[in-house]
Amino acid sequence: MAAPPRALRNGLPGSGGRPCPFPKWRRRRQRVTAAGGGASGSRAAPLPWQRAGSGGGMEPAGMEPAGMGMEPAGMEPEPAGMGTAGMGVERAGMGTAGMEPAGTEPAREAEEPPGSPALPAEPRQAGPPGAAAPGEGALPGASGRERERGRRGAGAGQGQGGRAARGRARRAPGRRGGDEGGRRPGVTVDSSKAKTSLEALKISLRQLRWKEFPFGRRLPCDIYWHGVSFHDNNIFSGQVNKFPGMMETVRKITLSRAMRTMQDLFPLEYNFYPRSWILPEELPLFVAEVRVMKDSDPSWKPTFIVKPDGGCQGDGIYLIKDPSDIRLTGSIQSRPAVVQEYICKPLLVDKLKFDIRLYVLLKSLEPLEIYIAKDGLSRFCTEPYQEPTLKNLHQVFMHLTNYSLNIHSENFIHSDSVNTGSKRTFSSILCRLSSRGADVKKLWSDIISLVIKTIIALTPELKVYYQSDIPSGKPGPTCFQILGFDILLMKNLKPMLLEVNANPSMRIEHEQELSPGVFENVPSPVDEEVKVAVIRDTLRLVDPQKKKRKDAQCPRLEHVPESSESLPDAVPAERPEPDGPRSPEAGLPSLCLKQVFPKYAKQFSYLRLVDRVAALFIRFLGVKGTTKLGPTGFRTFIRNCKLSNSNFSMAAVDILYIDITRRWNSMGIDHKESGNTGMCLQAFVEAFFCLAQKKYKSLPLHEQVLSLIEFCECHLAALDEKRLLWGWGVPERRGGTGGPCQAEGLHLSPAAPALLNRTATASKLADYRTQRN
Ligand code: ADP
Repeated sequence: MAAPPRALRNGLPGSGGRPCPFPKWRRRRQRVTAAGGGASGSRAAPLPWQRAGSGGGMEPAGMEPAGMGMEPAGMEPEPAGMGTAGMGVERAGMGTAGMEPAGTEPAREAEEPPGSPALPAEPRQAGPPGAAAPGEGALPGASGRERERGRRGAGAGQGQGGRAARGRARRAPGRRGGDEGGRRPGVTVDSSKAKTSLEALKISLRQLRWKEFPFGRRLPCDIYWHGVSFHDNNIFSGQVNKFPGMMETVRKITLSRAMRTMQDLFPLEYNFYPRSWILPEELPLFVAEVRVMKDSDPSWKPTFIVKPDGGCQGDGIYLIKDPSDIRLTGSIQSRPAVVQEYICKPLLVDKLKFDIRLYVLLKSLEPLEIYIAKDGLSRFCTEPYQEPTLKNLHQVFMHLTNYSLNIHSENFIHSDSVNTGSKRTFSSILCRLSSRGADVKKLWSDIISLVIKTIIALTPELKVYYQSDIPSGKPGPTCFQILGFDILLMKNLKPMLLEVNANPSMRIEHEQELSPGVFENVPSPVDEEVKVAVIRDTLRLVDPQKKKRKDAQCPRLEHVPESSESLPDAVPAERPEPDGPRSPEAGLPSLCLKQVFPKYAKQFSYLRLVDRVAALFIRFLGVKGTTKLGPTGFRTFIRNCKLSNSNFSMAAVDILYIDITRRWNSMGIDHKESGNTGMCLQAFVEAFFCLAQKKYKSLPLHEQVLSLIEFCECHLAALDEKRLLWGWGVPERRGGTGGPCQAEGLHLSPAAPALLNRTATASKLADYRTQRN
């Protein structure tokens, strides 16, 4: 499907006002399924949750009948048709302990009540060589001892933190809590807001011998571990494990917008995100585009998935075969959504659809530093997959991989092994793929690329939030954050991004129903294996004492240099710990988090155009603490960058500002400053693209945008120089606007910089073209 021009999309009017209710899945303690199946074609009422057919001679997931390891999805051709099958679900009780406060709307996901024990992770065993990432040895598998621990711990977990965790600390060989027994004073960590990640955090801290402050501390701590958001606490120093604005930035609509901007600029590079439309504003566009595509290709029988914005755990999601099936009986305005092309041919294992949860550490925004965990989780559906038909559209256990849904299927398999059951390690999947001859090196490389590109799409918005919450020059904490990437593998092994979670579940227990209505928390070895390592190694990477030691060794090396290694075929080789054998980290397993940026910066930096647009935006924001640009700021931007001329008067500038700002504000999805009527970053980006298209007509969009960025940066650098020279002082560059202008003088005609820019960017674009071909 060819993307329509951005202008067409943006120019379309609103939805026409038909309201749409998204079924609210009720949360109950009892696992009760409702009667009534999801009737195909029914659009009126949310359909109750049907337990997917439980038998029918199918093997449960994980039983792996011989020869049925991994196969492509069944290819039954789907008759064209209208209708939706609802996925109204009555959800079983989600433990409320440790849930986030109302109103914060965290991106929660599969949550189990906390409180069961688990021991510190051991150094990992080597897996089968076939699955090993190059240079890495083998991918990890669980040791028998860990599994045994899981079994021993089963049933002992009660409550949050508590006895079980203390017992665990006692059993940890050679480790003493806090700084009491260590050779150095431990790093101090405030865990009072850790919520559902507390258990895994406690284990990590004990392994590191760092000092935990479970009830907070009067003195500042080195690290603050928040369960939900940056704003859980007022912090003025140290490090916080959340970025301001992350939750807003990865919401379904915001993420889809950011990805679309990148798809407009670099369509081939960003083809890992399904085509998406935002409801209600793009409903007419969605209808029109699907009609055009169906007319041009009558054999195209698409399925779409509707996902409410801000939803999680599969909440309110349903599949449709036709745009007219979107539920419009409530007020869609009150719950906007994303409608997305449904990936009909996922890779199957044991005939089941599954997705991958990968953990990604955003260690720093400026400079950009990204790490990926070597292992993740694979979450399985519990009904054998069939391509969507009107009959099976409503079958959540077949189509949605959410743990929180499938746990309620009678086919769900809890396993002590990381290789079987309904939740497994990703490395175990790679082993199987590898043993069947799949190119897992390429798969890893594609995943790394997907992660870096996605973060590049998110950073502009994050920088706006960051400067608003932590203006430079003021005391404030630095931030890092573990993100959960949900990835679906297509049957050709192409990874597709489904979503990014700001608060991936870090629980290491799951709820088990002992008898009807009686639940108990038991350790989940798979979760523990993966999540404890991710938290512990995140802490090791942000260790302030390690940084001090490094700074002392090489005081001039402030930032990680942007290196230029090529993208690996797989996860890069482990490097020895820089601290050597006598390091406080000696004895810990090797890091499970691998740096991918700036390590592979060279291949991806050309994509960071919107980052530079955001830097311009931030420069003209004016008032600190705001995230929206006022009309004066926009005018100043135009004047300082010399963008106004006889063809583009200041009156036209004002009209552009008013038009775009009004439209964006009327969309009504503003998580930043409700009531503030200024221009948000995404509106500014749209205005910037408009200006670029106007100014550099004949170029492809990304070249137009790049040319305009360089034109603006050039003028601003010259202006700064002039101000310095005359002693006026240079405006604080909160976002940074690139290096000084190479061109002489201030009076470049629009044509001259365009020419210069084309030359300057020729090599980047040559790289880009080579990559595309
Ligand atoms: P939530 O945040 O509610 O879990 P997701 O976007 O993760 O929402 O979607 C829930 C599940 O639906 C995913 O885990 C996946 O199994 C399925 N899914 C989501 N989007 C698609 C898609 N475009 N194609 C196929 N399956 C999808």
